[in-house]
Amino acid sequence: MIKSYIKLTVLALCIAAIIAGCSKNTADDVKHPSSEPAQTAITAGEENITQEVTAVQEVTPTQDTAPTEEAAPTEEITPTEEAAPTPEATPDPDLPFAYGKKWCEVIPASEMFLESYFAIIKERLQTYTDEIIGETLINSSFALYDTPYNAADYSDYDIADDKVIFTFSGATLTGSEHPEFTYECDLSEAYAFMQYDLDGNPIHRPEIRELDASKKMIALTFDDGPNVDIDPQLDEVLLRHNARATFFINASRCVRVPDSWTDSVRNLKAHGHEIGSHEYSHLFQNKEDYDREVIWTEVNRSNLILADVTGEAPQYLRLPGGCNIEYFKYLPMPYFYWSGAAADWENRTLKSGETKEDMYARKEDATYNNVIKGAKDGAIILMHVNYPEEPAALERILSTLDKEEYIYVTLSELLYYKGVTPENGKQYSLIK
Ligand SMILES: [Zn+2]
Repeated sequence: MIKSYIKLTVLALCIAAIIAGCSKNTADDVKHPSSEPAQTAITAGEENITQEVTAVQEVTPTQDTAPTEEAAPTEEITPTEEAAPTPEATPDPDLPFAYGKKWCEVIPASEMFLESYFAIIKERLQTYTDEIIGETLINSSFALYDTPYNAADYSDYDIADDKVIFTFSGATLTGSEHPEFTYECDLSEAYAFMQYDLDGNPIHRPEIRELDASKKMIALTFDDGPNVDIDPQLDEVLLRHNARATFFINASRCVRVPDSWTDSVRNLKAHGHEIGSHEYSHLFQNKEDYDREVIWTEVNRSNLILADVTGEAPQYLRLPGGCNIEYFKYLPMPYFYWSGAAADWENRTLKSGETKEDMYARKEDATYNNVIKGAKDGAIILMHVNYPEEPAALERILSTLDKEEYIYVTLSELLYYKGVTPENGKQYSLIK
């Protein structure tokens, strides 16, 4: 019922747009989110769900976890730009309903939102059905912990005013008779996960610089941030060498510590570095029996917080310790191991007769040597923001690699220039 109603609404909007001379302004019932970081509260949001539904969608499991590194880059989906819409521009009733943006074009939910956003919705639906209906999500792709996400399950959506409304038809969620569900999300929150703006133009996240693709490229990655003492020093060295890096952040630190820690993340992003997720609280270990509910909570919370802090959902994940278990094939993001490591965490115990300063100097040498050893075209290098000697080591590393004409790139830039489209639920290391 609601689906038909929304379809009719969109048809009416389309007709209104045509009558109004196809002016862009006819879409003004849709608010454009500001570019300011969303200030959305991170809650389960089950109060946003109202009754109704039908139809179960089978899930196609994701393939194996072996990294594919030769995938061709996907084509950009360019929205058509016809200036003069005609009555034929009304949505095809056979297409899944989607946001009827400018000139009634349809963007499927799977293209409009990052998969990581569906993971968040899925977790909230789970909470709702567990706690409110008293039934577990069963026998459907919404079963949170045992099935991958399927974009088709979220195909019915609408954007209006300050919210995004997902409609779930049929008894999909619980397998028993329930009326239609609609689930509303704040647009300010959803915007950080959207791939098109409200005029239907692609949002280019993240930024890719114009670079000489024939040069050797290396992606330096720094884990365990933010760190208000070390981040600015690393940033200063990176900027001086025209280098961009990727910082994998533990979102819990953005919540528990003063604003300056959050500012540090924003500052790094403002200087062109990429912000990835190191999950919420640096919890995972290499254990096959790791609690699946905890995995989802850690990943989803981190994504929501980092989206809130930077205005953009993180695209990539690094699991603490490089953790990689079979279950991660269900992760709604690609995750990154490394091809070379500073091993800056090793051998930090003071040796006999050694001062702290001696140890820092010893570790600076070790970090320098380890990174130089791992430097090659397409390398992903693991470093950390935890250690006082790291900025000095980085200065030496970049001074040496400058002579070999390396370009220091973000993960997104490395993937782009190597023609690799990362897939969710897969792990990557050397990119070539
Ligand atoms: Zn870590």
